Amino acid sequence: MSAASPDRFASLRAPAHWQAVEFISDLHLQAGERPTFDVWRAFLQRPAPGRADALFILGDLFEVWVGDDVLQAQASTDQAFWRECAQSLQDFSRHTPVFFMAGNRDFLLGAAGLKACGMQGLVDPTVLDFLGQRWLLSHGDALCLADTDYMDFRAQVRQPAWQRDFLARPLGERTSIARQLREQSEARKRDTAGDPGLWADVDTAAARADLQAAGARTLIHGHTHRPGEHALGDGLRRVVLSDWDVGAKPARAEVLRLDARGLQRVALVAA
Ligand code: MN
Repeated sequence: MSAASPDRFASLRAPAHWQAVEFISDLHLQAGERPTFDVWRAFLQRPAPGRADALFILGDLFEVWVGDDVLQAQASTDQAFWRECAQSLQDFSRHTPVFFMAGNRDFLLGAAGLKACGMQGLVDPTVLDFLGQRWLLSHGDALCLADTDYMDFRAQVRQPAWQRDFLARPLGERTSIARQLREQSEARKRDTAGDPGLWADVDTAAARADLQAAGARTLIHGHTHRPGEHALGDGLRRVVLSDWDVGAKPARAEVLRLDARGLQRVALVAA
């Protein structure tokens, strides 16, 4: 890892009037999984008394994103669904700011997509300065160092030149490339018997190094689909967001809320 310095981290200072913020990640929204979308939309449409002052989406909001033109393309069968997602976010953003950090599924969401959804983009990682503390926010995939195949893939697809080339291809071609990549990823998961416990996890030394360099004590991330809290030594910890799957047994749809009382997990569906 490169030498750490506090200014290598993007930061966001919460306005003084914020009292509570909420974090979600890994909803993997897709047209074929309507129940998860419905719970998410109901969450966005809550009446004011229950709402926080900001919503942070820490990646993999969408199962796949092959370019912002999916919101316009008539040829795309999923177009209506993506537009519904964007409209729901746009409506919510009229009263509550929404911050979006890309995950490994939706890193191609660009400026036009952010605007359509009423979201402000965050780089990964970002330090949130809130309640007199610094909170390090990340999707988490960049810290799963043991998955070297994925780290190579990530380095490739995050290059601007790769993205320009990919986005220049016809939508149908991008959609089928994305499908192939997801099938390869699913096959890798099957190799590990579908057990998330065998998938690469966030590297403890890397997480500690980032926290210390950022002057933060808590890392909040998603990606691994292993919700929990891990002490990393020296008072450092990482808190892992839950993925969402309302069709699963037990159903999963959870928000992490942060206010003066600390971090609290809020389940939106009965398990
Ligand atoms: Mn992910």
